[in-house]
Order: sequence, then C-alpha cells, then structure tokens
Amino acid sequence: METIKVFCPATIANISCGFDVLGVALDAVGDEMIVRKVSQKGITITKLEGQDLPMETLKNVAGVAGLAFLEETEYKGGFEIEIYKNIKAGSGIGSSAASSTGAVWAMNELLGKPFSTLELVKFAMEGERLASGVAHADNVAPALFGGFTLVRSYDPLDVIPIPSPSELYATVIHPQIEVKTSDSRKILKTNITLADGIKQWGNVGGLVAGLFTDDYDLIGRSLVDHIVEPIRSILIPGFNEVKSAAIGAGALGCGISGSGPSIFTFGKGETTAQKVGEAMKEVYQNIGIDYEIHVSKINHTGIKNLN
Ligand code: ADP
Repeated sequence: METIKVFCPATIANISCGFDVLGVALDAVGDEMIVRKVSQKGITITKLEGQDLPMETLKNVAGVAGLAFLEETEYKGGFEIEIYKNIKAGSGIGSSAASSTGAVWAMNELLGKPFSTLELVKFAMEGERLASGVAHADNVAPALFGGFTLVRSYDPLDVIPIPSPSELYATVIHPQIEVKTSDSRKILKTNITLADGIKQWGNVGGLVAGLFTDDYDLIGRSLVDHIVEPIRSILIPGFNEVKSAAIGAGALGCGISGSGPSIFTFGKGETTAQKVGEAMKEVYQNIGIDYEIHVSKINHTGIKNLN
C-alpha cells in the first residue's frame, strides 16, 4: 500500500470531572487525510482545505507529529500529506489532535504497523505540544484508541481504554465565539482544596464505573466538575442556560468540551440526543449567537481507514 485515506475523529477532552485525563472519540464529525509514501525524506503537506492553517511542516501539527514518528523508524523515505479539515481549529473538539493522530496512524499503516497504539499516542502528543504548548494526551488517546480513554499517568505514559454503553450519544454545540486557549488556561487555579479533590475523584471513579457497567444514571450523577467548570464557564456566554436546557431535555450531564467554547452533553439514544440539541440551539438563537451542532454516536474504533 502506497497511499491511504483516513477519517480522523473529533474528540471531547476533560469530560467534566476528568480534567486532563479523560477523553472520548466521536463518529459524526472529523477530518479526512490522504497520506502517501514518497522516496524523498521528511514530511510535506501538499494540500490543506477547509481551514486557514499553516502548511509548513514545522508549523502544522501533522508535520510535527509525523517527524516525531519518522525519527524513530528505519524507513528511509518520507510522506506527503493532504488535510481536509471539517473540525474548526480552536473549537474545543480536538481539531489539532485529529491531524496529529491521522498523520501518525496513516504512516504506521503504510509501513506495516511497526508501532503500537501507545507509541503513536506519544508521537501525536508532539503535535499537541505545538498547538498548545503542552504535550497532552487527552484528545489524541481517544482519537487513536477509540471510545473513552483514561490517561492514568504521563510518566510513564499509561492509557486505559474504557468501554461504554452502546446507546450512549454525544451532543456538542459550538458557539461561534473565540475563547483564547491562553485565556482559558490563565484563569485556572493552580491549587485546589482537599474537599474539592475528594468530590472530583469520587466522580471520576463513578463515571468510569458507570461506563463499564452501562449504568446511565451513574454516568449522569458523575458528570460533575467541581474544579474547572465553575471558573472556565465564565468565558462561555450562555453556558448555564445551555446546561439547564440540555438537562431539562433529558441529557445525562453537560460540561465544557476541552477548553471550550464547545459544550458537550451525553444522552441515552439518538432521539434524546437530538432533542437535547434542539434545546441547546434555542438558547443560542435567543441570545443571538451563531452555533454549529453535532449529534454523534460514540466512535469505538478511533481513526478509520477509508481506502
Ligand atoms: P481544539 O480547540 O479544537 O482542540 P486546538 O486548540 O487543539 O483545537 O488546536 C488549534 C491550534 O493548533 C491552532 O493554534 C492551530 O493554528 C494549530 N494547528 C496547527 N496545525 C493544525 C492542524 N493541522 N489542525 C488544527 N489545528 C492546527
């Protein structure tokens, strides 16, 4: 195989109580990439459509992640990459992660899978370092493993895939406003109280247990964030109204996707997920803020080969 076309899923990171450790892959929204083996060494981005992003190898996360991969291979040639973006950069649903993971996953397939999924996570994290200054794994892990993932530890890197109930759907609304990642980082507190910590890790444990046992009520009870959401939500107009509307329409829980401004909810079944979407839309229609909405099943396989 010389060329591969892949689907690179959008991802929700943090998931309320799981700040910096939990993430999940979506099915209904993602980018596409075409990756080609070439004899010339290095990575060249030959096409980038859908978003205005740099094509220079060292300024694009696909290029940086790809170079991290190449450094560890015996392969003497290089790769050309075409990127077709559907995920808006800075939306909070893993736009950069889709490109970093798509590049390294496709390259691994083309070379006959020399690396494990966990090794691909490490390469893709270098793309995240370019995008945000921090080599975090909470978006790239679910994009590569599929489903929900827990980054239990960074040193050493330990990623735990978590199964989830078959009827679980995500609804994500992206208000078309800009929240600078630097601002959403700056306002975070660096210390937390023990009392908040206890509530938070109780919920992380509850959420993971609920996902494993298909317990929708437990999932809903655990989707609470005592630490980050109370602060970050201030940057998202209409957040509290959207959250109440979503829960009123049957969502199990609702929180900030990544560092925002997208807001996610989970619900049981597609009908509920659609209804929740309508309720969330209405809030932004009333305040006069444009939005994009995605209703998606959980993506259990991660990146997909479209050849
Ligand atoms: P999201 O908020 O959706 O998770 P990120 O904040 O992770 O998006 O990434 C957006 C940042 O990464 C922007 O600064 C963008 O310029 C940079 N970037 C570089 N290459 C890419 C790429 N191929 N796709 C998306 N963003 C990219």
